[in-house]
Amino acid sequence: MVHNMTEEHGLDLSGGLEDVPVLCKALTSPTFKYSTDNVAGPGCSVDPSEVTLPGCSCLSCSCRADSCSCLQTFGQAYESIGRLLNINRPESGYSTPVFECNALCTCSDTCSNRVVQRGLQHRLEVFHTKSKGWGVRTMEEISRGMFVCEYAGEVISFAEAKRRQFDQRTEENNYIIAIREHAGTSSITETFVDPAQVGNVGRFLNHSCTPNLYMLPVRVHSVIPRLALFAGRDIHAQEELTFDYSGGYGTQPAAEAPSTVGLQRKQCHCGAMNCTRFLPLDLSILS
Ligand SMILES: [Zn+2]
Ligand SMILES: [Zn+2]
Ligand SMILES: [Zn+2]
Ligand SMILES: [Zn+2]
Repeated sequence: MVHNMTEEHGLDLSGGLEDVPVLCKALTSPTFKYSTDNVAGPGCSVDPSEVTLPGCSCLSCSCRADSCSCLQTFGQAYESIGRLLNINRPESGYSTPVFECNALCTCSDTCSNRVVQRGLQHRLEVFHTKSKGWGVRTMEEISRGMFVCEYAGEVISFAEAKRRQFDQRTEENNYIIAIREHAGTSSITETFVDPAQVGNVGRFLNHSCTPNLYMLPVRVHSVIPRLALFAGRDIHAQEELTFDYSGGYGTQPAAEAPSTVGLQRKQCHCGAMNCTRFLPLDLSILS
């Protein structure tokens, strides 16, 4: 059988940068620069591409918890096939940080502690939704706990995030995601990622009040986390992929719509039963 390749597959939005093409039939001239990884943006003090974490000296194919310094220090995050362990953990509202083996580790590329760094492995398509502008759907089944894609973009400072949030016009709909990690009782690490100008397929993902992806900060070579999205449940082929822009998942209550005096809030069209009617707004950036 002969297929018309251009009709069926469209354009690869990643321009060959991803292992699998990011299909898009409608977007002919992207207005952003595709990057599979985070890049340093204004105010970012550490270059996310720099290797700043120590590695293990394992010589086995795949690292084992009884002998690997990475797994002993940071714990085991994945099953051997790359599925996230303790996918229920997010329901507690807290998750232990995930550290993968990195460029300095002597284990092989097939080590089971290397997942997010392998990048996109599922065929995804960027498509035009009915009421939400662009969206992303999967062309194949994705089982619960598997890594889907990163939310990659420019890593920027709090001040720059604030400036960009204020400058954003209402018709623009890219989101600066703020991830706050609590270490111990007092210290908080904040990371701001903006995919508007430089980003990957993650920038086309829509918000949902009942999402099917779960966001988890994962560190590979750098102390700067990658915002990794995992399947929170089994996902069918052709389903739209969504995550909660406020970082919630599952039984975690969606953030109560805060008072919005003087603020233009964007409506949520996710269609979920528990929809809060507005997209989450990180008020701490605006205050
Ligand atoms: Zn390893
Ligand atoms: Zn190791
Ligand atoms: Zn290692
Ligand atoms: Zn909603």
